[in-house]
Amino acid sequence: MRRIRSKDTRPEMTVRKLVWRMGWRYRLHRHDLPGRPDLVFSSRHRVIFVHGCFWHSHLCHRTHVPRSNQSYWIPKLERNRERDRSNLRKLRTEGWSVLVIWECEVTDLKLVESKLQTFFN
Ligand SMILES: [Zn+2]
Repeated sequence: MRRIRSKDTRPEMTVRKLVWRMGWRYRLHRHDLPGRPDLVFSSRHRVIFVHGCFWHSHLCHRTHVPRSNQSYWIPKLERNRERDRSNLRKLRTEGWSVLVIWECEVTDLKLVESKLQTFFN
């Protein structure tokens, strides 16, 4: 399978620790779910993705297409975006609630914590 992000990246670890501290238990990277969500809460039917801003084209200051080799990067990032969209659609169709936490948000733990609270309540 093609890898578009590495496992155990720092933002993901930070989110995992926070979720754990808040008392929710999860499984990691379930291969049978579209997009292999980073955290899976099977009994609550919820999944969380921790997305890198660059690879997933977040509209924030961390995202800009590299100047060189744009004929490579632009279609590649567009494919990632489409894959994300289609994975989210499939998950929701299968009845999962999906939360995406962006890498740039993980610098603000209060923000992430309140997103998690809203998501679980
Ligand atoms: Zn971002």
